[in-house]
Amino acid sequence: MRLGPPKRSSRPAYGQDDLTRMFFPPNYATSRARFREAAQRLRWDLHAQKIEGKGPDGEELTIDAAISPIASAKNVVVISSGLHGVEGPFGTAVQLAVMDEWQRGKGLPSDVRCVFLHGLNPYGYAWERRVDANNVDPNRNLLLPGDKFAGSPKGYRSFDGLLNPQRPPLHWDRWTLRAWWAWLRHGLPALKEAMVVGQYEFPKGLFFGGNEPGATHRVLGECLRQWLGECQSAIHLDFHSGLGRWGSYTLLLDGHPLTKNLQVQLDRWFGAGNYEQDDSKGVAYQPRGSFGSWCMGQNLARNYLYFVAEFGTYGSVAMLGGLRAENQAHHWGQRDGVVEQEARARLKELFCPADANWRSLVLERGKILVNQAVEAMAG
Ligand SMILES: [Zn+2]
Repeated sequence: MRLGPPKRSSRPAYGQDDLTRMFFPPNYATSRARFREAAQRLRWDLHAQKIEGKGPDGEELTIDAAISPIASAKNVVVISSGLHGVEGPFGTAVQLAVMDEWQRGKGLPSDVRCVFLHGLNPYGYAWERRVDANNVDPNRNLLLPGDKFAGSPKGYRSFDGLLNPQRPPLHWDRWTLRAWWAWLRHGLPALKEAMVVGQYEFPKGLFFGGNEPGATHRVLGECLRQWLGECQSAIHLDFHSGLGRWGSYTLLLDGHPLTKNLQVQLDRWFGAGNYEQDDSKGVAYQPRGSFGSWCMGQNLARNYLYFVAEFGTYGSVAMLGGLRAENQAHHWGQRDGVVEQEARARLKELFCPADANWRSLVLERGKILVNQAVEAMAG
């Protein structure tokens, strides 16, 4: 399927080439360097936690934290990027744009501390995969103690052949037809469940949650509490892309019950109707090992509110097809094969479109969300 922005492209553009040049990094190493430079310009404290392995050019892989040095502030805003590696350029772009704005304009309120986390899955970012070095989705790997790395939704097995073909990729693959056929046969809810819940039985399959805590899990377990410091209340926005309508966002509360009181507060902070709870649509299944539930299980603060800030790109058939093709290319193809390279390039485009309109739109909306979180914590 040929990729490109939808016909009805939306907003007026402004300085779009500059936005791409300044904020959307071309690769992990540049992204990390820019993130650290931006933090240094703000005189924020920097931390880096190395993980095993190297990037494609032999570069070190680290999870980086930049922290505004307002130790006395007990209210914290956490902004994280790249939990899904290939979504890293988008999340980093929001972080860089916000830091740039703060450096040029008004500084942070003195009673809020910011903790920016860069490249939570540095392997995936560097190698342009959504998953880590062991094909593990870090956002399904963060199981709480006592929860076993085992099992898969019963629908997953019936989709295994469709999602995870065990052969080298071909130029011509009737993915769209197959996808529609599978949806008709097994139903969309079964496919959605297979995708949302995660699975712990097919190590080379999509949405694999792993057999043990992975690199991201371990670093977060060792460092996040220390990076947060003393913290009473926190809003955590974890930036993701790939689900939802082109350029629009969904703010998804994860791991925390949406009580009446909280709803009143969130209406004030983000606007009524601008957020939802992860199960607000009455979907019976919940993701396992998600970052939000894990944060809640750590007792990081008296009030810790974790949100997925999910920005839409392409339609779900294209997204799933792109994930499938890249995963197939990774496990069964040759690294330098033409089809394989195309699959990787396409995955990048699917999760961070090159379209200038999309980029300026998501940057504007991302910055608004971060500033809303800061104002909420300042209040
Ligand atoms: Zn994601």
